[in-house]
Amino acid sequence: MKIERIETFQVQWSPDEPPAKRSAFVRVWTDDGRHGVGEVSPMMGGLASLGMIVHNIAPALIGADPLDHAVIQDRLFHSLVKLGPEGALTGALAGIDIALWDLKGKLFNQPIYKLLGGAWKTELPFYASIGGNGRGRSIDEVLRAVEARMADKPAAIKIRFDNKRVTLDEEIPDHIEKARAVRTMVGKDFPLAFDANNGYSTSGAIRVGRVLEELDYWWFEEPVQHYHTKAMGEVAQKLSITVSAGEQTYTMGGLVELIEAGVRMIQPDIIKMGGITGLLRCAALAQAHGVELVSHQTQPMIGHLANLHVCAAQMHATKPCEWNDPTARTHEGFADPPMPVDGLFHLSDRPGLGIEFDDTALSKQRIDVTG
Ligand code: CA
Repeated sequence: MKIERIETFQVQWSPDEPPAKRSAFVRVWTDDGRHGVGEVSPMMGGLASLGMIVHNIAPALIGADPLDHAVIQDRLFHSLVKLGPEGALTGALAGIDIALWDLKGKLFNQPIYKLLGGAWKTELPFYASIGGNGRGRSIDEVLRAVEARMADKPAAIKIRFDNKRVTLDEEIPDHIEKARAVRTMVGKDFPLAFDANNGYSTSGAIRVGRVLEELDYWWFEEPVQHYHTKAMGEVAQKLSITVSAGEQTYTMGGLVELIEAGVRMIQPDIIKMGGITGLLRCAALAQAHGVELVSHQTQPMIGHLANLHVCAAQMHATKPCEWNDPTARTHEGFADPPMPVDGLFHLSDRPGLGIEFDDTALSKQRIDVTG
């Protein structure tokens, strides 16, 4: 069995959706007619990653044995390192890796979590990740957004303060007010997390973190600029609340630097660094250092499912899996996509990831990337 061709395409979920919001997918075909599906990091629509697959990765993959996925990934990461190992390249390799694991599952007629050594549980709780709570949204609108997501019975809620990262600390009073209002609404015992999306200086972050401790938030995500690793560690060490980071880290070395700086919860993303092969390595790294691994994952539906398979196989799964703001993209374009039932995602025993594209539905939204 050999890899014969690779489809690379974006999906534009609605006609008014800007190109930067498109999803990015791959489908890898073998010479005996099998296929696996994968998702590429869709930052800025994933065009850079899909272009690398077309121009740099596919030529090296045609004719390769798909079961050599780890060798393929390490070989291409190193031979293509000049393309930049921190971003589009690792996103591209992640999408290929997920597709090859899906193919392997179908070949052995087993769900991926079985190939990983078995699931600790196949019913996985999730936390609702709610974006856009900055200045553009009033306190009341934030509360309504949280209320709407409670209908899915999440195990926790994370409120995100998405920002352009070019100013720091300006919105701290607004963020604190919203954090207090959400805590008051959900009650003192409901698990809450707060995502600063790199919006604070070190002292600003410590100030916000102390309020979050008083409000009994569960974790404080990316308080300072992601490239200020030492500052991230300083904030983590000065606060008792768990400080997390790592969704913008693309290498194992980058995660080690965060851990050595003092961060005690890392959040690598399966479609940004290494796919299933990569996230398994991150889990081993986290276990060896005694830090929590709570993977970042905001994409429908292939990235989400790949993440669930790895999380199901993780022993020290301390927190629920991320589930982003639901939109049509969470289910349109897929045959029988999993949705949470009573607060749990149920992993099926279907082979591979357990999901396929609905090609008829996708045909209207699909944009092939061929060069
Ligand atoms: Ca985040």
